Amino acid sequence: SAARGWVPALADDDGAARARAVLAEAFGADEPGEEVRVWAAPGRVNLIGEHTDYNAGLCLPVALPHRTYVALRPRTDSLVRLASAQAPGETWTARLEDVGPGEVAGWGSYVAGVAWALREHLVAQGADPAAVPGFDAAVDSSVPFGAGLSSSAALECAVAVALDDVAGLGLAATDAGRAVLATASVRAENEIAGAPTGGMDQSAALRAQAGHALLLDCRPGLDPVESATQVPFDLDAAGLALLVVDTRAEHRLVDGQYAQRRATCEDAARTLGIGSLRELADAVDASDDPAAALARALDALPDDVARRRVRHVVTEIGRVRALVALLREGRPDAVGPLMNASHASLRDDYEVSSVELDVAVDAARVAGALGARMTGGGFGGSAIALVRADQVETVADAVRAAFEREGLGAPGFLLATPSAPAERVA
Ligand code: ADP
Ligand code: MG
Repeated sequence: SAARGWVPALADDDGAARARAVLAEAFGADEPGEEVRVWAAPGRVNLIGEHTDYNAGLCLPVALPHRTYVALRPRTDSLVRLASAQAPGETWTARLEDVGPGEVAGWGSYVAGVAWALREHLVAQGADPAAVPGFDAAVDSSVPFGAGLSSSAALECAVAVALDDVAGLGLAATDAGRAVLATASVRAENEIAGAPTGGMDQSAALRAQAGHALLLDCRPGLDPVESATQVPFDLDAAGLALLVVDTRAEHRLVDGQYAQRRATCEDAARTLGIGSLRELADAVDASDDPAAALARALDALPDDVARRRVRHVVTEIGRVRALVALLREGRPDAVGPLMNASHASLRDDYEVSSVELDVAVDAARVAGALGARMTGGGFGGSAIALVRADQVETVADAVRAAFEREGLGAPGFLLATPSAPAERVA
């Protein structure tokens, strides 16, 4: 139930039925004897490795059981007509020839952008772009919007596997092909929807596996297949749960702050004479005395702010490595202190936390969470807490009570059981 802020995942047959119903309502029923097909893709949370992607670092997302469902019927022309349960009463329409950077707006740009990017991919391959046809599509989703759980990538990636299927491209059948679909989905978000994001969300939605976290190495130029590694993270088997707290707080100042953090990191790398802070993280990691190696590098930086930003990035990449090592040893119950240290670093050194995120994290720990941290870019969005499976309600109650005590709006809750990637569901 949605009571007390809980956001349940839709079952696949429910999600498929709802998306089909939206399609029938908006654009008419199927031909008799033909049921429209449905594809789905998950939202994600990042377990650890925050603000590391643009520093060529490491991150570790998990696919949510919460998915976006897309019922899609190819057309014989190049028209795209869209409806969504999350955008009631409006349909979005464009001709594929008219889709390009700066040419379309609104939520349909995430969808039509994927068709555009796949056509671009076919052109680059010397293939016929018209293999990707126009289509009617309808969407329903249980991924919260704008909560830092990547409803945008869930939408793009559900459309990517749908179009891969109807165009007969066969890309979803292999991990290498899924990397191509992820790139197309990133291009849709960056170039058509105009949102300057990294590639973590789309890789998670297309390449994460149930019972695993996905270790992503963000060094540019790396072979896309080698840049993603499955790491066992079977919470059920360990008697654990990953509780997500959606603070439901408005993101404030995010754009300017994000650009500032990025510029500070790039300036610091230049000052240190390296291509990215990843190179420093690797050198520190390989050193006999990591603390001294980091201190020496920090001494070369001009001011305290730059030193703290760099310290976050380098130590965070180290924490991703340490957390992955624990998971590979089968010790998921031992990762809590690394999550706590990540939060402290993001709050104090990187300065991207918020009152809501700090309240959620502190209340979860006091109530018995093994570890808790903000997740995503910060300034709002969501926090995660690793808890014993039988303590989920206790911890959620404590967080809810703390928000009330602090006069904050009621948070949302969901469980991030590591789940399957984008696929056809009906
Ligand atoms: P997040 O990805 O963190 O949820 P974003 O701002 O990146 O937040 O993406 C949210 C946007 O993606 C929405 O404003 C909307 O344009 C689009 N979107 C995502 N899911 C849907 C959906 N089910 N129906 C319509 N639009 C959607
Ligand atoms: Mg997004």
